[in-house]
Amino acid sequence: MRENARDRGRRLVAEGRLVIRRVDEAEITAVCRGDSGEIYRLGYRDSRWWCDCPAKTQCAHLYALQLVTVAPGDAWVDLDDLLRREAEVGS
Ligand SMILES: [Zn+2]
Repeated sequence: MRENARDRGRRLVAEGRLVIRRVDEAEITAVCRGDSGEIYRLGYRDSRWWCDCPAKTQCAHLYALQLVTVAPGDAWVDLDDLLRREAEVGS
């Protein structure tokens, strides 16, 4: 069976190719190394997901990012609270 974008996204995460650069209440930015070795930048800003790869439909990179993040706009958790708790755990 052919691997679809969603399956590829899961694999990109499993293979450690997705690196999250920044997450805050307004924006997510990340980079992802595609199967051909190129590095794509992607993220979430102004209520939109974006990726600079040439895909016309939702790409595997965005599926990968969405697997490990929650869009700030539709977060059901309080992101500030979550980050504060994480800081406490880390200290
Ligand atoms: Zn992409």
